[in-house]
Amino acid sequence: ADEDLESVPLPFPSISMSSRERRWSDTTPYASKKKLQSWFQLPNGNWELGKIITTSGNESIISLFDGKVLKVKEESLVPANPDILDGVDDLMQLSYLNEPSVLFNLQYRYNQNMIYTKAGPVLVAINPFKKVPLYGNDYIEAYKRKAIESPHVYAITDTAIREMIRDEVNQSIIISGESGAGKTETAKIAMQYLAALGGGSGIEYEILKTNPILEAFGNAKTLRNDNSSRFGKLIEIHFSETGKISGANIQTFLLEKSRVVQCNEGERSYHIFYQLCAGAPPSLRGKLNLQNAEDYNYLRQSNCYSITGVNDAEEFRTVMEALDVVHISKEDQENVFAMLAAVLWLGNISFTVIDNENHVQAVEDEGLFHVAKLIGCSIEDLKLTLSTRKMKVGNDNIVQKLTLSQAIDARDALAKSIYACLFDWLVEQINKSLAVGKRRTGRSISILDIYGFESFNRNSFEQFCINYANERLQQHFNRHLFKLEQEEYIQDGIDWAKVEFEDNQDCLNLFEKRPLGLLSLLDEESTFPNGTDLTLANKLKQHLNSNSCFKGERDQAFTVHHYAGQVTYDTTGFLEKNRDLLHVDSIQLLSSCTCPLPQIFASHMLTQSDKPVVGPLHKSGGADSQKLSVATKFKGQLFQLMQRLESTTPHFIRCIKPNNLQSPESYEQGLVLQQLRCCGVLEVVRISRSGFPTRMSHQKFARRYGFLLDNVASQDPLSVSVAILHQFNILSEMYQVGYTKLFFRTGQIGVLEDTRNRTL
Ligand code: ADP
Ligand code: MG
Repeated sequence: ADEDLESVPLPFPSISMSSRERRWSDTTPYASKKKLQSWFQLPNGNWELGKIITTSGNESIISLFDGKVLKVKEESLVPANPDILDGVDDLMQLSYLNEPSVLFNLQYRYNQNMIYTKAGPVLVAINPFKKVPLYGNDYIEAYKRKAIESPHVYAITDTAIREMIRDEVNQSIIISGESGAGKTETAKIAMQYLAALGGGSGIEYEILKTNPILEAFGNAKTLRNDNSSRFGKLIEIHFSETGKISGANIQTFLLEKSRVVQCNEGERSYHIFYQLCAGAPPSLRGKLNLQNAEDYNYLRQSNCYSITGVNDAEEFRTVMEALDVVHISKEDQENVFAMLAAVLWLGNISFTVIDNENHVQAVEDEGLFHVAKLIGCSIEDLKLTLSTRKMKVGNDNIVQKLTLSQAIDARDALAKSIYACLFDWLVEQINKSLAVGKRRTGRSISILDIYGFESFNRNSFEQFCINYANERLQQHFNRHLFKLEQEEYIQDGIDWAKVEFEDNQDCLNLFEKRPLGLLSLLDEESTFPNGTDLTLANKLKQHLNSNSCFKGERDQAFTVHHYAGQVTYDTTGFLEKNRDLLHVDSIQLLSSCTCPLPQIFASHMLTQSDKPVVGPLHKSGGADSQKLSVATKFKGQLFQLMQRLESTTPHFIRCIKPNNLQSPESYEQGLVLQQLRCCGVLEVVRISRSGFPTRMSHQKFARRYGFLLDNVASQDPLSVSVAILHQFNILSEMYQVGYTKLFFRTGQIGVLEDTRNRTL
């Protein structure tokens, strides 16, 4: 009879017994081949499968599949898995766990539209960039009935629901990956499954409708993704005792405000602006004096107005409908659109030089006129706010005129603030509409869709925050996986101290330590009126250079050694972005105007002074001195997020982008590998390798390999097992003998299997 290998130690075994048995079937003639097939890395970095013809000394002659024959050093060869393991649906089933094998396995599946693969407890999803026939009610139904076991977002979501009900523990689905890797689509797929299984009250429909709204206001076309989310999102979906959705709550993180006033060639600002310009009905157009997107400076600068395959006017109708669904009144909707128009018109305000010191004044043109009308203030007040700054020097109030660049900064800061407040206000309204009733059961499933680790040629404050968040998430991930392993080892009496585990606490300390950590030093420098990006860089170098995760660089840059690799940050703009100040003058203007949505500003901008103080900020500067820095606020949000996640059972999905062209059918090995490393897939594999992922009971082991023993002294499965281990010189650090099972490091069983198959 066939034995099956228990090589899936972690939860969610996703392969049925029968297929596993087939995979390890005795009659499969792969063993001899397995030894001969190896991966060989070509000069371009890609891996190719080769056959070893002969080996002498430490050199081998291999033939590649195109017929080329090469002499290579043996250490440059990496063992390939037997054909029978091609395309296994859990990477843990690979006998040889190495980068080329993982890459090949994922590609093998991807080529057949099997975009989902498990890596132990983690679901890996490769963006197909095309419609794949894996979704919809039939599939949902099949996963619900467990008629399909192939890895899928549905399967993970199903597990989350079941565990929530069974264990009465909140669950989380944590989705990460690079921009364009498919996180947001994956989150929506999970939400669809939840809505299908937990629907009934109607609230699920509202929850699904939050997607088009948040995407319109928070997503934009970038060079990486036509629908790139420019904010992080956690949606917590609540369930009643009967397993029906009872409400939801959305939290957003770090919206990219700068996009409102500035974006790169070929990218767009937020979708909603183009949708409004293209889709507003005539009456609204008239009221807001709307022009075409081409007529607004903020939208014109990047030379990109449309997205292939997207009809902005149509999208606008979808958004308006969705706003209805989440109970935002027609009046409020109109006010929202008025604020958007105000932002657009702000960008059209221009300035003229009024004296020989280069001071400027806002021009009384269309822009100024429409903004004043839309936000409800006098043209004079607006003009003054944009052209001057009130300051307190000693006991005197003085009015300082602004230079052109100062005036443009003031104008853009106002536009960014209005937009950011509008976004927060919208989320708040949505949350009111989705609010869980009084009868909270405490059962929920949260879905986290958050930007993954980023490393570009030039990395700025945004990458700094994002990568810090990813360090935190990675720690959560490591701890969780480690904990799972540990529990099983303890149960079977295994010395789990032998499981090596590298955590990223050092890097987190580099960020969080007080007073000498990146965040503290950044905040400190942000409070100095004379602080500049250069003094910040120098300060970091001065205090942190002895830290092994930190390296000062030339100019005003520094490098952080992240778990996913080194990233060099350029401090240019750090202080300004961290302070994120809006002038008191602007705040006063907004609080005095008869803005259509006064509550937006009331609740978001003007209450900032109630919050704890970062430090003695800008005593003479006239800016809002009570405001939390962006980094500190983000850190607070992250801590809160981690606390919430800590109390849940996590399920991890790692999204992978197979190419940078958003194109189907292109799988770039190097690009995929880099992401597998960054988003910790190889880390899981590594953790499992440093642990003992292959398990087999003493009985099974004795039965499977017992006949290989030279002399059989005992029938007791444990003794037989130990004798086998000795006879085959399996190194003692490569296995552990538990109460019921043998635990092996990755690949150890492969050696025994080889011998067994050769013998049979
Ligand atoms: P991210 O949120 O990671 O930046 P998105 O979820 O926005 O990436 O995905 C980018 C694009 O990739 C989507 O607009 C869609 O065209 C495509 N895509 C992602 N996931 C899938 C999928 N499962 N099926 C089909 N297309 C997908
Ligand atoms: Mg996204």
